[in-house]
Amino acid sequence: MSRAGKGVVGFLVARPLVAIAIAAVVVGVLLLQTRSQKTPVTQREQHVALTDAQQSQLGSQQYAKTLRANRARIVSSGPQYVRVQRVAKHIETVAARDKPDFTWKVTLLRKNVANAYCLPGGKIVVYTGILPLTENDAGLATVLGHEVAHATAEHVAERIEREHLTGVAAAILAGVVAFTPAQYVRVLALLDAGATLPFSRSQESEADHIGLVYMARAGYDPHEALAFWKRMLLAGKGKEPPEFLSDHPSDAHRVERVRGWLPEAERAYRPGQQS
Ligand SMILES: [Zn+2]
Repeated sequence: MSRAGKGVVGFLVARPLVAIAIAAVVVGVLLLQTRSQKTPVTQREQHVALTDAQQSQLGSQQYAKTLRANRARIVSSGPQYVRVQRVAKHIETVAARDKPDFTWKVTLLRKNVANAYCLPGGKIVVYTGILPLTENDAGLATVLGHEVAHATAEHVAERIEREHLTGVAAAILAGVVAFTPAQYVRVLALLDAGATLPFSRSQESEADHIGLVYMARAGYDPHEALAFWKRMLLAGKGKEPPEFLSDHPSDAHRVERVRGWLPEAERAYRPGQQS
């Protein structure tokens, strides 16, 4: 933050009433700007106030924090690194057609946790622990397609909007401090995807649907997604269900729904595009 920026924050901390007034203005402006838009692929009408740039900024802040805390775990060479970068690049290329203003980037962390997530704005984290479950590139494309779908469908921003926290998120971006700790913690928790709060089941289902079409567009056989979700169903019944399933809750009908979207994914499938 610049010296001038620090000065502003110091001024606001010292004068909470001024800070509250500024926050109220920020909230008011944002409420006016809440827009109606359609999600990619599923074409569901949704209401979001945070812009793509604001989502990118919030996601990038969270990403930088995560990478700082896990510096020693970052995998930056070797076959697993190459594989994750290769598959992510194909999925990101497809997702970027829906969200050209997001900055896509994937980081592989060495951690025995079967999970992955994508922050608002396109920053992706994959743990090495999920790679054995993916089995092949198409399985990994299923996971990454699902994760980036949460970002392109703006699921976090949508939840922030639904919970009337847009003003708080905007205030965090602006460096204004006039909100209650509980609201602040809630926004950070919503941003900390893959660690704290699961998405809703309808958002999960939508990410399955969009992700399936994305992986097919990226050149991966969508039938492999069905195989992947069947493996996850089995793994979920085991003694130690993958963390991915607790962060991405679904129900027994997930595999059947994915099967139902296969014809659409087959039409989107472009074999050989991924090499
Ligand atoms: Zn999910």
